[in-house]
Order: sequence, then C-alpha cells, then structure tokens
Amino acid sequence: MLDQAILSSLKEIDNEIFELTVAEETRQHEQIRLIPSENYASEGVRSALGTGFTNKYGEGYPHRRYYQGQINTDKLEILTIDRAKKLFGYPYANVQALSGAPANLAVYTAFLKPFEGKIMAMRLDHGGHLTHGSPVSVTGNWFEISHYGCQEDDFLDMEKIRAQALEFKPDILVCGYTAYPRTIDFKAFGEIAKEVGAVSLADVSHIAGLIAGGAHPSPFPHIDVVSFTTHKTLRGPRGAIILSKDPEHADKIDKAVFPGLQGGPHFNTIAAIGVSLKEAASEDFRNYSAQVVKNAVILSEELKNKGYHIISGGTDNHLILVDVRKSSKLPGKRVAEALEEVGIICNFNTVPNASDRQKPLFPDGIRLGTPSITTRGFKEEEMKKVAALIDRTIKNVKTGKIEKGISVFADESVTKKIADEVRELASSFPAFSW
Ligand SMILES: *Cc1c(COP(=O)(O)O)cnc(C)c1O
Repeated sequence: MLDQAILSSLKEIDNEIFELTVAEETRQHEQIRLIPSENYASEGVRSALGTGFTNKYGEGYPHRRYYQGQINTDKLEILTIDRAKKLFGYPYANVQALSGAPANLAVYTAFLKPFEGKIMAMRLDHGGHLTHGSPVSVTGNWFEISHYGCQEDDFLDMEKIRAQALEFKPDILVCGYTAYPRTIDFKAFGEIAKEVGAVSLADVSHIAGLIAGGAHPSPFPHIDVVSFTTHKTLRGPRGAIILSKDPEHADKIDKAVFPGLQGGPHFNTIAAIGVSLKEAASEDFRNYSAQVVKNAVILSEELKNKGYHIISGGTDNHLILVDVRKSSKLPGKRVAEALEEVGIICNFNTVPNASDRQKPLFPDGIRLGTPSITTRGFKEEEMKKVAALIDRTIKNVKTGKIEKGISVFADESVTKKIADEVRELASSFPAFSW
C-alpha cells in the first residue's frame, strides 16, 4: 500500500483517522467508481501533497510576495505555471485558486461588478454547474443570469444560443459543463462572445484531462478564459487553474484570486498540480485519455443494446447520462442506491427532456463516467462486464416489490452475488496506490 511509512506514523499518532483512511482506501480499491468527476491521483501527486510546502506562507505571486523565505516557493509556482501554459497552449496561467468554485468566482469578480454584471450559461438541470448562476449559489444572486439549455435531441443548438446571446447581451458567456456528454464547440462559443462583446469563459473542469491528452478539442485560441479543477480527468490534487490569452485579463484574474478572494496559496497543492501537469504531458496520458473516451463509448453502446435510454444517444467524452425512468421506470436515486449496494458508485443526476416528476433531489437519470476505472486499467472487455453488472442490478430492483414506497431488490442472493463479482473485478485492477 502507498505511503506505508506515513500511514504507520498516522496509526501511532491518531488511530481514529488512520482507521478511517484505511477504510476509505479499501472502499476505493474494492468498488467500481463511476462518478465522472472522480479519479485516482498518482503516487507522485499524493506524495507532493504531504511535504513541507504545506508549512509555507506566501501571499502574492512569484517575486511579489508579502513574506520572506520564498526562494523555493517562487521557483515552484513558476514551474507549475510554465507547465500549465505549455500543456494547454495559453500564455497566462493562475494556479492559486483553491478549487473549481472559487476559480469561477474569481473569473466573475475579475470582470464584473456585483448586481451589474450579466452572465449567460447552461442551466443546472441540463448539465451546467451550480457556479454557473444557480439561485442557490452566490453567482445566481450577485449577477444577472440567462440560462440556455439542450434541445429536444439533448444537444446544444449554437444558432439558438447565438440568438439568445444577441438578445441578452451577456458580459460573460460560459460554456463547459458537469453533465454534457458531447463535444463542446469552442469556436462557435468564442465567435458568439466576440459578436456580443462578452468575455468567453470555458469551465472545462470535467474535460481538462481529455483536452490535455488530445481526446477533446482545445479551447485555444477560441476562448478568452479557461477555468478548471485539477482533480477530475486531469488526475491531479484538488485544486484549480485559470488560463487566459490577454495580459489585461490575466492581471485582473490574478488580482481577483489574491487579494480579491483568497489569502495564502497552498504550495503543497501547487506542487502536486505541477506533478500532475508533468504526468498529463506524457504519452501514457494521451493513451489514457483516448481510452477514457473509448470506454465511455463502449459502456453507452452496451447499455443502449440492453434497452437503456442514453441521453443524446451516446457520448463523445468521459461520461454518459442514462434516463433510468424512461428505461426502467425507476427514479435515478433508487438506481444509484441499488448500485451502491453492489459496490458500483455513481450519482443520480437530472437529465434534459425529463419527465415532469424530475426534481434536483429526485431526478430521472444517473451519470456514469470512466476516468477512475480507466486509470485502473479497465478496457473494452471490462466495460462490457460493468454494463452487464449494472443491468443485472437494475433488473433485480425493477422486478422487486415496493415496500413503504421504495422498490426493493427482487432477490437478495442475486444482490450478494453481483456484489461479490464487483469486488472481484475491481480488486483485480489495483489503482496506483495499491
Ligand atoms: C467540479 C466542477 C466545479 C467545481 O469544482 P469544486 O472543486 O468542486 O469547487 C465547477 N465547474 C464545473 C463545470 C465542475 O465540473
């Protein structure tokens, strides 16, 4: 197991946290993790997170800090910035935003004044993020929002988005999503933004790794500002990067991150981001990204052949959305729970063009992604097995009875058998850390 030395010292110092850590590592080893925003960070990334860089303060930016003692941190931040610029082809990068939500808030506050600025983005129930102007996020309260959505075929229609942008005249036009299985037309978004005088923002949190690995088109040079988390397909630590093209934009973004919203940067995270960027520039990572997409396509084809309703009919990226209410008359939440009972972890998710029963906490769909299992080495053959395990689990719920309004498994022995098969399949593909 990874970090043997660190873990044994943790055991001595704090047994409660040690036991939880081991339990979580074991869960991640024995379960099939299909949450598209999760992954397994490499040993290099994990090692970098636990070093003395966590002990250092350094408010400011390289060579412009408010503290002394920055000879190593300055070099570290410059190195990580350079790797980000090189990998994504943008001339400016900020690596200090603490995660995806603060990164987006930094971009908005860099360009907009609260209660004046206008943002146009994808609606939440069609795959947008909370930070894209949802009313439960400050972004939906501090700015005027106009949301676009998918068409009846579950695809975005760029002509409709253009017409809406011409009418609404946003200051920032956002593309990039948490649950859209299709390729994003960055060129079209960039052109619309230019036409209406908006800054274009691509929040590529989900697909940053696919872009780095060449499995999704790059936003460069079409999009002005690109924000993303570093822990999803990119497979780094929890953190974020903001890229930009224009020196004035870059300056505004730096000031918005610090001192606008944050204090000292987390240098251990910046070190780990640096490691993940080095890894993402490798040939191995190119193969990984291509395999992530291949695996998602196979999973969607297999499920489609078994009669499941796949949103948009398939996928171009790392995730698929299944309308399980249309497929099996079960709500997404019950399916996600049933899958957890056999050790397959996904999330229930809203889907576009849903039934009128769909609510955010009671959606019609589930969301499945391949980044984690592809890191573990799952390929075509294993994807067919995963699809069959999912199908058997859902059928075992579907044919079960209703108790207290909840559909239960038809046959507990089938559940147990599937759970054993899941554990065996997962355990035969160790992640980096095992
Ligand atoms: C995950 C995600 C975020 C938020 O990232 P956190 O690290 O959870 O704050 C923002 N935007 C998109 C599109 C995401 O997928």
